[in-house]
Amino acid sequence: MSLPLVVANWKMNTSLADASVLSTLIRNNLRNISGVQVVLCPPNIWLQEVASVLEISGETVSLGAQNCYPEASGAYTGEISVTMIKDLCRYCIVGHSERRHYFKETNEFISEKVRALLANDLIPILCVGEAHRADNSVDLVIAQLKGSLDDVEKEDYGKIIVAYEPIWAIGTADSAESDYADRVGQRIKQIMGAEATVLYGGSVTAENIEHFTGLDGIDGVLVGGASLKASEFVKICEKMVGGK
Ligand code: PEP
Repeated sequence: MSLPLVVANWKMNTSLADASVLSTLIRNNLRNISGVQVVLCPPNIWLQEVASVLEISGETVSLGAQNCYPEASGAYTGEISVTMIKDLCRYCIVGHSERRHYFKETNEFISEKVRALLANDLIPILCVGEAHRADNSVDLVIAQLKGSLDDVEKEDYGKIIVAYEPIWAIGTADSAESDYADRVGQRIKQIMGAEATVLYGGSVTAENIEHFTGLDGIDGVLVGGASLKASEFVKICEKMVGGK
């Protein structure tokens, strides 16, 4: 069985100095910890800095990007291609609700990114989640997932990490109940395969992390706000050890 996974999404936060200090503290505190896999996703502009901090950290902590553009190169001012992030990262978040909402990213565009990442041997962390608590929430999540996998080969599903992030729980201090997250995670695994990695994200903290360990449908967490405080993030990672 694979190790529990903790992904940090720093979003559009940190200065260069902050990114360096935060990644150094996380690296140093997790240096002697095994039994958990950690991915840091800083803003793209700090990837190189965090990569140089993590270079000496060994296997526990790896690097991911928060976004990518699916074309390899060309006239796409301001964008960063999959082939560019490949030099530094193993993972890339795609389909985050903030990108779907603020940047109007569609399932079709997200599926292009998923395919481009897979073609470059990078691991997509594909985010899906419903906007409101509703009776048909799980069906909405599954429909979004299927849409975001458009033209992705079924045989590649096992290479994709899915992060279930109910939008109503992101940044709200109102995390999902564990049995509900578990139920959604199990439905996702019915699509992706029993061995697929499914994360829960939405107001995860060091206080509530135990709600998301030991569940059949959930293999780890995606952490936003709480990943910006080294001591809290390290606590979350420590509590995930042996948690799956
Ligand atoms: C996120 O943005 O992916 C997230 C889970 O944020 P938070 O942990 O702050 O809710």
